[in-house]
Amino acid sequence: MSLSPIVCKFGGTSLADAEQIRKVASIVRANERRRFVVVSAPGKRHKNDQKVTDLLLTCWHLAMQQLDYAQPLQMIRERYNEIARDLDVEPVAGPLEEMEHELRKLAADDQSTLATRDWIASRGEYFHACLVAAFLEATFVPAGECIRFDNEGALDSISYDLLQQHMQSNGLYVIPGFYGRDMRGRIKTFPRGGSDITGAVVARAVQAEVYENWTDVSGLLMADPRVVENPRPIGEVTYRELRELSYMGATVLHEETIFPASQAGIPIYIKNTNAPLEPGTRIVATRDASQPAIVGIAGKVGFTTIYLEKALMNQQRGYGRRVLEVLEAHGISYEHIPSGIDSMSIIVSDEQLGNCEPAVLRELKRTLEPDRIETYPDLALIATVGEGMAHRVGVSGCLFEALRQAQVNVRMISQGASEINIIVGVEASDYERAVRAIYDAFVE
Ligand code: ADP
Ligand code: ASP
Ligand code: MG
Repeated sequence: MSLSPIVCKFGGTSLADAEQIRKVASIVRANERRRFVVVSAPGKRHKNDQKVTDLLLTCWHLAMQQLDYAQPLQMIRERYNEIARDLDVEPVAGPLEEMEHELRKLAADDQSTLATRDWIASRGEYFHACLVAAFLEATFVPAGECIRFDNEGALDSISYDLLQQHMQSNGLYVIPGFYGRDMRGRIKTFPRGGSDITGAVVARAVQAEVYENWTDVSGLLMADPRVVENPRPIGEVTYRELRELSYMGATVLHEETIFPASQAGIPIYIKNTNAPLEPGTRIVATRDASQPAIVGIAGKVGFTTIYLEKALMNQQRGYGRRVLEVLEAHGISYEHIPSGIDSMSIIVSDEQLGNCEPAVLRELKRTLEPDRIETYPDLALIATVGEGMAHRVGVSGCLFEALRQAQVNVRMISQGASEINIIVGVEASDYERAVRAIYDAFVE
């Protein structure tokens, strides 16, 4: 009987050049159960470097506008050629030429081009999986034939069967992350950072014992290392806690990653390619939540509050529904709705709001006739997360005392009945100070 396999996904920095790919090879070879390797496109080699996916998207934008894309294209070519040369494997000449050909058609407004935004973006993972498979002497798995999206753009569960069918023998497989195909047969990508999701889908398809996500930090940290200096790593965290943290900005794992893994009960380990012996983070279904109460703090800037006030709002049945219908008509989803007796505040991300704000306000005024309607921009949301908070006295007291001491004004508070997180809204300019204050209060 074969041993249960491990799926390992390597992120862009883990595969940024030949030296990194050699580290990946030694990690894969160190355990014969690591038989499924999901790869990202080459990421940044240093702080000021460019990710290949960003370069590809730049080419696409320029070609769309009939502008010169020669320079980013040359940078992409050089990245792959250099890696192939250093690893002593065949360059990806044919597929690169095909992409150049399709870009030329796009720039010439030739409707027969394959070069949609998603097709171009997916080439980074495709080329790289070809190179890595050659270096590892592994079988390349065509993600476009295996990962399928339904008409709503969600993962089609047929993908699990298709992946299994393509990876039946006992060998080593390399699967490009980030893309699949839609119902009409066109290449479609997951959202940015979505190779993490491919890894989880593959893990579920092969019923992996573990999904290892290899990156450039030694696990999930208790706060964003760009905000808090040297935050502590988290040893163990539940799927629910991870979902809260990653949704709220702990970008180490894409927020949608946990679903395929948690549905199949597969633990996820976050590990550091540059320090493989460090323990990293284990993401599991349940943990002893008594210690510690708080697992982490995450947050994001870029939210706006839409505030509505109307006398006797509380007596009007369906008022809230009609507000949400206006948002829905503009394709906007909301984050939180704290409400008073005669008022409600709807918090939406600026990304969702886009340039619809004037139209949304007009529509709200027309259909809901509020006594007052205002918008407050520049809101940041901070989530303090931990299953151990439930039924524990004093957690929010500690949090708000920390914010008081840091002189941070709280503009919004939200805590769900599950008590897994406390979310506060603060001025964007107070964001980093607030995160540090909360971190210090609970951790240091
Ligand atoms: P990869 O290219 O391997 O997918 P990402 O750049 O997507 O890696 O994610 C890793 C990065 O996530 C880290 O380098 C770190 O800067 C950032 N990050 C943000 N919040 C956290 C956190 N709470 N814990 C760990 N890393 C975090
Ligand atoms: N290369 C893609 C991106 O940069 C996907 C990924 O790395 O996960 O978003
Ligand atoms: Mg990532």
